[in-house]
Amino acid sequence: MADELSADIVVIGSGICGSLTAERLAKTGASVLILEAGPRVTRDQLVLYYRSAPRKGDWMAPYPPSWWAPHPTYEPDWGSATDVDKGRVARQPPGRTGNGYLVQAGPYPYPAEYIRIVGGTTWHWAAHMWRLLPNDFRIKSLYGVGKDWPLTYEELEPFYYEAEVKTGVSGAPDTGSPRVKPFPMEPVAESWAMRRFRERLAPGGYPVVSNTTARNSRAYDGRPPCCGANNCQPICPIDAQYHGGLAAAAAEAAGARLLPNAVVYRIEHDSDRRITAVHYYDPDKLSHRVTGKTFVLAANGIESPKLLLMSASDKYPNGIANSSGMVGRNLMDHPSSSLTFDAEDELWLGRGPQSPASINTLRDGPFRSEHAAFRLDFTNISQVRAATEDLIAAGVYGAELEKQLRYRAAHQCNVKNVPEVLPMPENRVVLSDQRDELGLPKPKVHFFLGDYLHKAMAAAKKEYARIAELMGGTNLRYTPDGEYANNQHIMGTMSMGDDPKDSVVDPYGRTHDHENLFIAGTGVMPTAATVNPTLTAVALTFRTAEHIAHT
Ligand SMILES: Cc1cc2nc3c(=O)[nH]c(=O)nc-3n(C[C@H](O)[C@H](O)[C@H](O)COP(=O)(O)OP(=O)(O)OC[C@H]3O[C@@H](n4cnc5c(N)ncnc54)[C@H](O)[C@@H]3O)c2cc1C
Ligand code: SF4
Repeated sequence: MADELSADIVVIGSGICGSLTAERLAKTGASVLILEAGPRVTRDQLVLYYRSAPRKGDWMAPYPPSWWAPHPTYEPDWGSATDVDKGRVARQPPGRTGNGYLVQAGPYPYPAEYIRIVGGTTWHWAAHMWRLLPNDFRIKSLYGVGKDWPLTYEELEPFYYEAEVKTGVSGAPDTGSPRVKPFPMEPVAESWAMRRFRERLAPGGYPVVSNTTARNSRAYDGRPPCCGANNCQPICPIDAQYHGGLAAAAAEAAGARLLPNAVVYRIEHDSDRRITAVHYYDPDKLSHRVTGKTFVLAANGIESPKLLLMSASDKYPNGIANSSGMVGRNLMDHPSSSLTFDAEDELWLGRGPQSPASINTLRDGPFRSEHAAFRLDFTNISQVRAATEDLIAAGVYGAELEKQLRYRAAHQCNVKNVPEVLPMPENRVVLSDQRDELGLPKPKVHFFLGDYLHKAMAAAKKEYARIAELMGGTNLRYTPDGEYANNQHIMGTMSMGDDPKDSVVDPYGRTHDHENLFIAGTGVMPTAATVNPTLTAVALTFRTAEHIAHT
């Protein structure tokens, strides 16, 4: 045992959720200690890594894993550049699941991506910050599927707004989520390509609206406005997008102490169900014990349940906070299908943010009793590199290459869906029998996609065809059935609920089993809805922090 630290509040993980919890609680005067598994990084360092990366389609290139805090990477084979660019997500080619860290139990691959560094995964996100719809909170009552949340949209609304102000959200008001106050900012200027989508799809009954994002359309909170340079993933070079690195810095400025390279591997309890300490390894594998009054676990939807399961004891043989057996279960994400086609107009994707606009009309409706709802999302990533690689792979060279490349760079575009996957207990994170360099178990995932999703994919295909028709599209390329790109929205593994028998935390994020252990992050979401989950996770986090501050 090397030494012993102590704080009123001990936060595990310095991602957006952990750091924002820490900042808020540090401002109450409590002593706050953040234990972060990964190293410190700076933005210029990350930009440099990316600039010198040989494969620009590898969005994990700026984020090499440290040996003591590994995260999944998918080298050497990432599929074609088009696979990555068109869907904004890294994915495995069919049948390939190896990545050296996240062990795959199938039957579907679950190639989740996340980053273990100070600030966490939002360093390389798309910064979508959507609110759920009110009906998303009660799909069991309304449509007979999934689960109802133990709280309502109206209860979360003030925390949504607080999260939007904190992270600097810009958006269009017409996305179906009622608001008491306007967005902190107007949307970022519409790109030419998105304008053409909006104009050509409107007569077909498709309203194309600006995405709601934590991206500055004006100078905000000491950061500059978006300059439209189209590098949002894997990193915005000017911090026009909010990210967890900013949250971590704000937590430290508010008085929280942040300890990097501290890999928490055990949660300790007393005989009275209270959590007394956590233990972490430093990179020399020296063990340290940290005591506290209140603990907040914010290590993400895979590493948090892993830690709870790893902390099994004689009293809790199934792990901490797991009397329900639900820790690690109900894993959800947003697997996407897509259509790539050549539009009639010259669109020239690549000016402005990478992910600027959506169609929101299919996010809710009575059809949800039959198949998943979904959002339709347009990419705006420059097609030059993807088209070049695809053409060369197809053996096109010389003058013909230049001709076809010019055409594709101007006309090629893509639409994908973001569908709701239902919570299923058999979809889960467990401990594998493989070990990382510190000797800790690597996580293993079981992932299955049922008919509720497959029917939605069939419905989406019809919408894609109609959209392509309205855009005068040719050369239509659908993703093959069953081959879906993952969206890295890890949800459900420590689900929130009123009943301790089938949920892990209560509506305030407090574990049912341990009164001084709270969980923050997307893992507490009982259902997935059709939007990127981080705004909801941050809103829930603020609600949790307020609860901790008042108890
Ligand atoms: C390519 C990509 C694009 C995305 N785009 C979007 C988007 O547009 N909108 C959206 O809503 N979401 C998006 N996401 C998802 C989003 O990044 C996550 O929802 C978000 O990061 C979750 O925040 P978190 O704080 O819970 O977890 P994380 O950001 O993953 O942070 C967890 C932290 O815990 C630390 N940690 C882990 N294990 C331990 C341990 N044992 N001990 C100590 N510390 C530990 C990690 O190092 C990390 O710093 C995207 C993700 C990816 C990969
Ligand atoms: S386009 Fe993307 S990378 Fe460029 S400034 Fe805007 S948010 Fe940052």
